[in-house]
Amino acid sequence: MAVHLRDFFLKGITLGEDEKLVLETVQDLCRKEMGPRAAEVDKEERFPWENIEKINEIGLNGLFIPEAYGGNPVSKTAWLAVLKELSKACPSTAIIFATTSHCCYPIVKFGTHEQKEKFLPMFLEGALGAISMTESHAGSDVRAMKSTAVKTPDGYLINGTKTFVTTGDAADIFSIFLKVKEDEDTLGLSPFIITKDMAGFSVGKKEEKMGVRASSTAGIVLEECQVPDDHLIGAPGEGFKILLDYLNDSRPNIAAQAVGVAEAAFEASVSYANERVQFGKRIIEHQGIQFMIAEMATQIQAAWQSVLHVARLMDQGYEDFSAEASMAKLMASEVAEKVASDAIQIHGGYGYCRDYPVERIFRDSKITQIYEGTSQIQKIVIGRHFTEKK
Ligand SMILES: Cc1cc2nc3c(=O)[nH]c(=O)nc-3n(C[C@H](O)[C@H](O)[C@H](O)COP(=O)(O)OP(=O)(O)OC[C@H]3O[C@@H](n4cnc5c(N)ncnc54)[C@H](O)[C@@H]3O)c2cc1C
Repeated sequence: MAVHLRDFFLKGITLGEDEKLVLETVQDLCRKEMGPRAAEVDKEERFPWENIEKINEIGLNGLFIPEAYGGNPVSKTAWLAVLKELSKACPSTAIIFATTSHCCYPIVKFGTHEQKEKFLPMFLEGALGAISMTESHAGSDVRAMKSTAVKTPDGYLINGTKTFVTTGDAADIFSIFLKVKEDEDTLGLSPFIITKDMAGFSVGKKEEKMGVRASSTAGIVLEECQVPDDHLIGAPGEGFKILLDYLNDSRPNIAAQAVGVAEAAFEASVSYANERVQFGKRIIEHQGIQFMIAEMATQIQAAWQSVLHVARLMDQGYEDFSAEASMAKLMASEVAEKVASDAIQIHGGYGYCRDYPVERIFRDSKITQIYEGTSQIQKIVIGRHFTEKK
């Protein structure tokens, strides 16, 4: 195809030499392995182990582990560019990979040296991670969770059922938020590190989903699960701040995922519109379609710039970027769903069928408006930022 799209949305991005190499390696992997496999793993609803093996072969988990613990971290800008590329190729693989980083985040940011020494090498060796807040009655309203960690002389006794855990049935390590109780008092939420081999841990219901079908989403049951004190991250019951900090960090990741999904829909549309002929000319030469392409490109560019803006703030060490993180997530996920829907329109009837990738991409786009806080919740976060406390 004469139109060169591959790096269109990466123009002007500033990366170090090592970061460029990482990005190029990921792009190569996406082009040769993950992209071509995306339709198959979606259709078979099969966990993409081959892709996870490739991720581990090139040591990508090192990107979110501090150097002192054996990792090779990159800037947030480079990290988000990597996530965007993975999402463009295979959103299921991208969310599995991002979720491992999400599991790691509370350990890296709030864990003790001993916790980091114990758990971070496991990720470098390829362990899969999961993070869990949600329960059946506690979604957006996380504080309504009921699962408890009760202080005992030996540590904490955990009971509860978690829902919608990405990689829940395949992860080795979990960061799980629970209500901490001590002497009958409820202290508040805290994250605990749980490993799948602990007595009392089991996998619950596996969801059958609309999109990101190659990633697994499962319930987690914790029954009389005794964990030692050193599996608690931070001070007992003071983890709500950790949760908010975590969400500020993870929302740009989902925003980057959404941009990647939108780009995939866009590239497929440009390619199709340049080939498909109706009324004696390529459909891209019909102004109605050309305008749709123009709007898609403009929306994706705006969403990506919003993601890069929050990345810049984070790389520059700003402490307060919660509004910008939510703006990026809100905008990018809304754009992803709109662009993916327009991509089907551009493909006409073929877009509605599985022979073309846009049918899957549209299904994959929807989740970005839901997890890591719905679009409505992002608006609440942004709106609150501008509301004076009286
Ligand atoms: C595929 C998938 C993967 C997931 N992975 C994980 C995971 O790894 N870990 C994890 O902990 N969770 C995960 N989740 C859960 C996800 O984060 C929640 O589904 C999401 O936060 C919304 O919660 P809910 O589904 O209970 O919806 P609800 O909170 O019940 O919301 C229902 C509707 O009401 C709206 N709403 C709720 N409160 C308000 C309000 N105050 N104002 C206006 N509107 C409101 C919502 O925006 C939504 O439209 C996953 C979910 C899915 C589907």
